[in-house]
Parts: sequence; structure tokens; C-alpha cells
Amino acid sequence: MATELPRTEVVVVGLGAAGGVAVLPLVNAGLEVVGLEAGTWLAPADFAPDELRNNFRGWPQAVQKANREIPTHRPSASAPPSPRLAIHPMMNAVGGTTLHYWAQSWRLNPWDFKVVSETRRRYGASRIPRGYTVEDWPIDYSELEPYYDKVEVEIGVSGQAGNVKGVIDGRGNVFEGPRARPYPMPPLRGTGFTDMMATAARSLGWKPFPGPAAVNSGRYQNRAACVYHGFCARGGCHVSAKGSTAVTTIPKAQRSKRLTVVTEAHVTTVAVNAQGRVTGVTYLKGGTEYFQPADVVLLAGYVYENVRLMLLSISPAFPKGLSNNHGQVGRHYFSHNQLSTVSALFPRDLNAWYGLPAQGVAIDDWADDNFDHAGLDFIGGGNLWVYSDRRPIAAAGMSTFGRAPRWGAQWKAFVTENADRANTAYLQKTTLPYEDNYLDLDPERKDPLGFPVCRITADYKENERRLADFIQDKMIQWYRAAGAIATEKTGVGTMGPSTHAYGGTRMGDNPDTNVVNRWGLSHEVPNLGVLGASVMGTSGARNPTLTAQALAWRTAEYIAKNWKAVAP
Ligand SMILES: Cc1cc2nc3c(=O)[nH]c(=O)nc-3n(C[C@H](O)[C@H](O)[C@H](O)COP(=O)(O)OP(=O)(O)OC[C@H]3O[C@@H](n4cnc5c(N)ncnc54)[C@H](O)[C@@H]3O)c2cc1C
Ligand code: SF4
Repeated sequence: MATELPRTEVVVVGLGAAGGVAVLPLVNAGLEVVGLEAGTWLAPADFAPDELRNNFRGWPQAVQKANREIPTHRPSASAPPSPRLAIHPMMNAVGGTTLHYWAQSWRLNPWDFKVVSETRRRYGASRIPRGYTVEDWPIDYSELEPYYDKVEVEIGVSGQAGNVKGVIDGRGNVFEGPRARPYPMPPLRGTGFTDMMATAARSLGWKPFPGPAAVNSGRYQNRAACVYHGFCARGGCHVSAKGSTAVTTIPKAQRSKRLTVVTEAHVTTVAVNAQGRVTGVTYLKGGTEYFQPADVVLLAGYVYENVRLMLLSISPAFPKGLSNNHGQVGRHYFSHNQLSTVSALFPRDLNAWYGLPAQGVAIDDWADDNFDHAGLDFIGGGNLWVYSDRRPIAAAGMSTFGRAPRWGAQWKAFVTENADRANTAYLQKTTLPYEDNYLDLDPERKDPLGFPVCRITADYKENERRLADFIQDKMIQWYRAAGAIATEKTGVGTMGPSTHAYGGTRMGDNPDTNVVNRWGLSHEVPNLGVLGASVMGTSGARNPTLTAQALAWRTAEYIAKNWKAVAP
């Protein structure tokens, strides 16, 4: 029998990127909030620049929840299961994965919100890939812009604007949607390597720009500036220059005294009454079961856990899982096509032994619908990103570009000479949802508590494969223009567990095809909200977190402003 706790107004499940942002507008509006977080607080001492520990043996967290419930994967309903990942690098701690993420903080392009209507308008309906389930978002870029702006200021984003109120600035991304104002901080500085790549891009007639990062380029809101020493690609920042929610929005919300953070609280189910409204959540802490009653419940445990918690929360009102009477929980799932990449070998050292992966140069000429697809056999595009970050173990894993064997004395000699001469680009590409890609509960694999883990049934389709080929060729062109003497492509792979997962609780006006409405609240359960990229219906060509955070702020603000209508 669970111990029943005093009622609160809002309970947020998971204090990561999305939940950690949502708590601030809620408490600012005067609401009492309990944040239930499976992990613990981490301290600067936990963020040692230790590649072996952070990148290969897991990472500095006390609670290993994500690792114990790694989703299983099969490419299709008739395919055998894929080998299971050894670790899944999402973080379990206050601040969630923003503690050790790369901190690239991109807005989506306006096209990403209107993929269906814009593709039909420009190229005709036949260009939408077969089997797709993509819909236009119920909101457009301009409706999200004020929330992008709020989050950029709160977490501190460095960058160079390319479009402020329609005034184009060639130093920034000329393809971006209009911004209300510039970034709160100038961009992170470049390096000799990124400057060389920017010059090469210009020689091709392309438009390079420094990418946006939730990393301080100068002292900001009492947090230190980045010192560019690196080792934070899956490691935390010991000087708090990275704008994790653990050092930005969560402590700010705590200062209101209206946010109670409960750590090591593992939420297992969401409770529902006979009227089909949520009444609170059950969680385990230190072996004891608690029930936290709440007027409103917000799920923010990342895509796989949001879906899993809903499917595990069975009740007479929702026999197929919470908010799943339309059978949409788990549908429209996809993960970013980011595996197919390109590496290059240069004839000289690049001096990339320092810096961080958010410190780089981007090309958006081939992203989204920024170029004419009339003669092409795919829609969407990719963001080309090269950055400064090199660590010893990763460097030793470099390709030999067919110039040396992969072992022995010749391999050692090759790596010794070339470890600082190679570079691998990060290529994020548009990925779409399809009817046969989805999440459900695995019928066999369980977590240590005995609950089924999430099962991913998904693979990349023709559109993603053709697009990947095209983007890789563009990247090769860029590297060659910069003087690369060899290049190598990797394959697309399959759509296994991802750090850029999307969908499963998609946002849309139609309850027959979407779980949450345009405000992020369930169509079927008026006092249940879902936060994170599980509500996103398209990925665009860039990382998801800033968009998930902007949406989380918007949902929280809507709840606060419409409290009487949302809460029972
Ligand atoms: C190495 C790495 C680099 C990345 N780099 C970037 C980048 O540069 N830019 C970008 O945009 N994105 C990046 N990402 C992705 C980014 O981290 C995610 O998009 C983002 O953190 C997702 O936000 P979230 O709030 O949904 O999940 P999280 O930030 O993971 O937060 C979820 C929280 O919920 C808690 N939780 C889970 N289940 C429960 C439960 N049952 N009960 C209680 N608490 C629970 C977890 O402990 C966690 O703290 C990166 C990810 C990784 C792993
Ligand atoms: S490189 Fe910058 S963001 Fe990374 S740990 Fe160092 S100071 Fe922090």
C-alpha cells in the first residue's frame, strides 16, 4: 500500500531538459510544483574530464535507470531483434541529459512545421514519401518563436543571429526563421580548423556560420564563461558554463520556494479516476512506495519513458494505456538519421585537441527545403556540422582510410602520424514518421522492477537513405574544398535506441492521429500534459532539445494561464 503524500497542484515526472524548464513558468505563475526525479543532484566534482569513464564506461551518475531499461529494437514487425545496446547515454540526475549533452541549441526551420503543405505547394502531393504519417504541426514557427526566445535567455545560448525581424545578417544562418532579437551572447569562438572550413565553404559559394550553443561565450547570469578545454561531449561542465537546467531554470524555480525536488523518485504509474482524469502518480523511493496526488500531471521522462509510463498505466477508463483510447500512444515514432556520416583525412595537423562539439561551423544550404528539390528523389535535407573536439581514445578509433591495416605496428604508426589529421562531420538529416515505425511494450524483456521495457519497431526508409547519400556527397565536396586527401562514408544503419528520439505522443489537432493537442495536453485526459520530443511530429535537420524546451515552456504557461479549465 503506497504512502499517500499531501496534494500538490502540479507534479512533473523527470527534471531533465524539458521538465527542468517547465517548472520555472509554473512557479512564476504561483503554482505549487513537485518535481519527481529518478536521479540525484550531481556536483562539479562529478564532472571530471575523464574520457574512459564518461564515454566508454557510462558517465558520472549515481542512478543507472536508463541503462537498466534500454529499449529493444527490431527493424520491422517480422524482423528478428537487433543486438541490444550495452549502454544508453541518457542521464538520470537533476538536469537530466542537459548535464552531459553537447549543448547545440538549434531552433527548427519554419519549413519543419509545415512539411506536408509546403511539399505539396512546391512540388506536388506525389512527393510525400509512401507510407508516411507526417502531418503539419498544429502551430507554426512564429507561434513558437517567443518561447524559443524565453528559453534562450533563461538557459543562456551563444550564437550569431542571421535573421532578426526579417533583417538578414550574413554572419549568421541566413536560412533561419525571423527572430525577435539576437542571441543573448555572441557565438563561441572559432578555431584554426573551423576557420579553414568556413573559408572552404565560402569558396564553394556556401554560407557558413557558427552554430548556437547553450554554453556561455562570456560570463552570463553569474555563471562562468567556457574555457574550451573540452572533454564535455558526454561529460558535465565543472564550471557551469553549460546551461544545463540543473544550473539554470531548476535552481531559479527553487528560489521561489514553490518547487519541491524529490530525488531518487522512480515513477512507475499514473493514476486515473472514474471520470478519466489523472489524480497523481505512484513512485518508488528507497524501496518504499508513495502516492503523490496532484491536480495536473506532466510527463517529462524522455520519449521512451513517456510512452512506457502511459502504456503501463492501465485503468478501466483507459484499458489500452493512459490516453490511448485512440491507439495513438507509441505511433509516429522516429529517430534522427544521424549515423551516415563522413570522415576526412588532411595532409597536416588540425590542432583539434581542445574545444567542445558545440564549437563549430555549420552549413544550412542543404538543410530542410533551403534548396530546390525539383530534380531530386527525396524531400528534406541535412545540416553539415564540423567541430573542434578530439579525445585520445576516440582518436585511436579513427579510420585508416584504406591506407593501413586496422592492427599491428603499421596501424600504430598510422594513428601516431594521423590522429590529429582526421575529422568526422556530424550530419543531421530530416527524418519522417511512417505507419510501420512505432513503440510498444516488449513482450519479454523487463527492467529490474519487472516492468516491460519499450520496444522499438522502426527502420529508415527510402527518403532517409537517398537524402543521406546526397548530404554525404555535399560533405565530401566541402572537405575536398578544404584540402582533404581522403574521405570515407559510413552507412545509414538502422533506427535503434537514440538520443534524438521523436514522436510516440505526437501533438496535433486531430485526436484520431495525435495524443496531445496544440498545447501539449492530452486529447483524452484534460489534466495530463506531455513534455519533450515525444510530442514533436518532425525532426528537422538539427538537434531537438531547444524545441522540446520551448514547447515545454509553452505548455506550462498555458496551464498556468488556464488553470481553472485544466485542473479539476
Ligand atoms: C551525449 C549526448 C549529447 C547530446 N547532445 C545534444 C545537443 O547538442 N543538442 C541537443 O539539442 N540535444 C542533444 N542531446 C539530446 C538531448 O539530451 C535530449 O534531447 C534531451 O535531454 C531530452 O530532454 P528530456 O527532458 O526529454 O529528457 P532528459 O533530459 O533525459 O530528462 C529526463 C529526466 O527524467 C528522469 N526520469 C526518467 N524516467 C523517470 C521516472 N520514471 N521517474 C522519475 N524520473 C524519471 C530522468 O532521470 C531524467 O533526469 C544529446 C544527448 C546525449 C546523450
Ligand atoms: S569546454 Fe566549456 S562547456 Fe565544456 S567543460 Fe570546459 S568550460 Fe565547460
